[in-house]
Amino acid sequence: MAFHQAEHSLLVIPGPIEVSDDVLFANATPSQSHMSKSFTETFGQAIKMFRQVLVTERGQPFIVAGSGTLGWDMVASNLIESGDEALVLHSGYFGQSFADCLEAYGAKVTQLKAPVGQCPSREQIAEALTTTNYKLITVTHVDTSTGVLSNAQMVSEVVHQISPDTLVILDGVCSVGSEEIRMDEWSLDVVMCASQKGLGVPPGLSLVCASERAVHFVEARKTKINSYFASWLNWLPVMRGYEQGKPVYFATPPVQLICALHASLKEITSRPIAERWTKNKQASKDFKDFVTDELGLKQVPNDPAFAANGMTAIYFPEGISASDIVPRLLECGIVVAGGLHKEIKDKYFRIGHMGLTAIDTTTRRDLEKVKDALRHVFSAAGYVNKNISK
Ligand SMILES: *Cc1c(COP(=O)(O)O)cnc(C)c1O
Repeated sequence: MAFHQAEHSLLVIPGPIEVSDDVLFANATPSQSHMSKSFTETFGQAIKMFRQVLVTERGQPFIVAGSGTLGWDMVASNLIESGDEALVLHSGYFGQSFADCLEAYGAKVTQLKAPVGQCPSREQIAEALTTTNYKLITVTHVDTSTGVLSNAQMVSEVVHQISPDTLVILDGVCSVGSEEIRMDEWSLDVVMCASQKGLGVPPGLSLVCASERAVHFVEARKTKINSYFASWLNWLPVMRGYEQGKPVYFATPPVQLICALHASLKEITSRPIAERWTKNKQASKDFKDFVTDELGLKQVPNDPAFAANGMTAIYFPEGISASDIVPRLLECGIVVAGGLHKEIKDKYFRIGHMGLTAIDTTTRRDLEKVKDALRHVFSAAGYVNKNISK
């Protein structure tokens, strides 16, 4: 049966994103037992394919019902013991939330805050690591509130030079599937994400991958893990079991969502992952060039080298505000996101270009539609780009 999803407005917020017909159809798989042979195979393959996306051979995936936020609880409850020091690199809204979650499990959190549009520098990170013994450091790979892309490889290098026992945690909720990530090569201890962003699956799954050293720490820790649902000790037998073709029960997995994840990961891994990163980069560069050169607008990230490839955060020009633009875009059938970072909330808006929107340039023309709509609505709002001489 050829399934085609209903006509709908184009969803170009930084997650949830557009979902393919195949993935949506897999999300409507008929009921099957979570212990059945067929589902065990599906789940086991999804676990293996998730490793491929993160370019890891040794990482241990945890694929659990929840959202990206559950990944923070997993990191905090499994890796933090009361009183441990944690260093949070703050490049926007999501750093603060990760810090709040770590504190909820007893961590003493230090935030290294960068001005809006930037991320903490190598020197600042090195200095912080020299003065305190941190149990872990967190990096928001792409802060979805600013579109700032942090250099995860650089952070990990600095940590391994100065404080090699510190665990390196990557919040990849807005980057996995869109940005280059090499978990083993970069020696990352945890990479966490969610189904509804770069992986192109409906919301509802938390996907986390832990290094061997992070798993060893949890298996050996003497103090109790202050969570039941988020405890890796409860999920390890489940993940290992499904991967080996032997289903193990702890809590019922969201069967249909995992079928949808399987369908999406099959699409993603059918081509080399580096090709996907390159396509995202190209789509992003083309779109950002349009925003800055043709529309004459300014991006939130201060330096193009630190701008995400899966989304664009754009300042409104003088005299124009969200109410001039966002409702008009809606009328054109385009759904974008407003501001989120509290210091600049009303001054900018955000467009997501992850998954299909960036990758499928043959049967879809999502970003061309977005460009046409932006040309139209900015001109309807009375905006003229003065930098362009006719
Ligand atoms: C979306 C997001 C989260 C939270 O994920 P939810 O699925 O909304 O719980 C965390 N970190 C980043 C960087 C995000 O973009």
